Amino acid sequence: MSTRVITFHYTLTDNTGKQLDSSAGSNPLAFLEGSGQIIPGLETHLKTMKPGEKRKVLVPAKEAYGEVNAADIMEVSREKMPAKQIKIGDRFRAGNDGHAPVVRVIKVTDTHVTLDANHELAGQDLTFDVEVTAVREATAEELSHGHVHGPGGHHH
Ligand code: ZN
Repeated sequence: MSTRVITFHYTLTDNTGKQLDSSAGSNPLAFLEGSGQIIPGLETHLKTMKPGEKRKVLVPAKEAYGEVNAADIMEVSREKMPAKQIKIGDRFRAGNDGHAPVVRVIKVTDTHVTLDANHELAGQDLTFDVEVTAVREATAEELSHGHVHGPGGHHH
């Protein structure tokens, strides 16, 4: 089977119906089949859809951003933090290297800060309202780079 580029619009809501993200009003997203760019539970559906088709897709946490891993939540003393003013929701890189994981502050006390390295959407069942806008064959160059070129993809 050849590999395709699938372009789609999406609106993401959590299980309370709150909108978390949407491509409405901007460019649709394009991805290369099987490249791991799209969460597995969503890609499975998109692969079977035709241009113009709309679908509401419920993706359980384990097929989205995974369950919350307790080992990725850690408490550190405030003195070890790079910033003086720290509040819930702040984000830090857990190291100097630009690829270090980003951690979120989820709790602050007078002496300690609790950091969570789980994906923000870990443990959440997600609903995607998707509309596939285009499906085409991937080019040889895209296949060798492992990502999409042009609208919705890389420009280089
Ligand atoms: Zn490329």
